[in-house]
Amino acid sequence: MKVMKFGGSSLATAEKFNHVVALVESQQDQVCAVFSAPQSITNDLVVLIELIDQQQELTKQLDLISQKLLTISSDCGAIRADFDASKSQQQTANLLDQLRNWVQGCALIGYCPTKVAAQILSIGEKFSTLLMATLLRTKNPITVLDPRLFIHVEDGADDPIVETEQCQQSFKSHYNALTDTSVMPGFYGVSAQGDLVTLGRNGSDYSAAILAVCVEARECEIWTDVDGIYSVDPRLVDEAQLIDQMSYQEAMELSYFGAKILHPKTITPLACLLYTSDAADDLL
Ligand code: ASP
Ligand code: MG
Repeated sequence: MKVMKFGGSSLATAEKFNHVVALVESQQDQVCAVFSAPQSITNDLVVLIELIDQQQELTKQLDLISQKLLTISSDCGAIRADFDASKSQQQTANLLDQLRNWVQGCALIGYCPTKVAAQILSIGEKFSTLLMATLLRTKNPITVLDPRLFIHVEDGADDPIVETEQCQQSFKSHYNALTDTSVMPGFYGVSAQGDLVTLGRNGSDYSAAILAVCVEARECEIWTDVDGIYSVDPRLVDEAQLIDQMSYQEAMELSYFGAKILHPKTITPLACLLYTSDAADDLL
């Protein structure tokens, strides 16, 4: 089993969605794919929440978000003849209706409560996952994994922590057999009260690591717009070198000190996985 996580830059346009479909379909292994929101969507949703809190005009921002999501899903119809475009447009329209209802409710009370903000922020990941499920389903049956059933997030924490063992148990009780390809939205889980909670900005890497532990994956791949971890940010320094191999400790330090390539919490669950899987035998 392999976990593959695709970030927003890999999901910026219908062409990119299509490319990800090809990548997932070309795998020999069983795959669980984890998706972020399409590029810029989470930032747009953050702005929307700020506008709610400042009691400002919301229509323009809502229209911007709607237009970006509807364009991606309708463009997918144009690229792939075998794709159920009407189903996808309907799914997107339903998500956007939900978004409008939340926003209207918040506008009435003049602010955005934390629980509603989490729902609003998760729209992008839900969109990507539903669209990918429809795209992938043209070839094979797909399992859609719901992080609210097993990614347990510690309550009230500003910097959310996930209880990995509890996640593993819940995962086993909800999913005993997976299809060859499963998909899951990144970035959120569930609180002890049963509310949707986010894992913090860039949290989809962390979602992928937790899922990798739950399915006892042999590999967890984080797909992004660069080829791997560089000696320095390649957008800032031309001579940046791609690093072949590094220890968990080094990767963890890099992300804690601000390297954007990896969410700081991603490594811990994966390091535990190493010691519980067959891969650990290679080390002994
Ligand atoms: N979409 C979320 C963000 O932009 C989560 C992620 O991309 O990992 O923070
Ligand atoms: Mg990211």
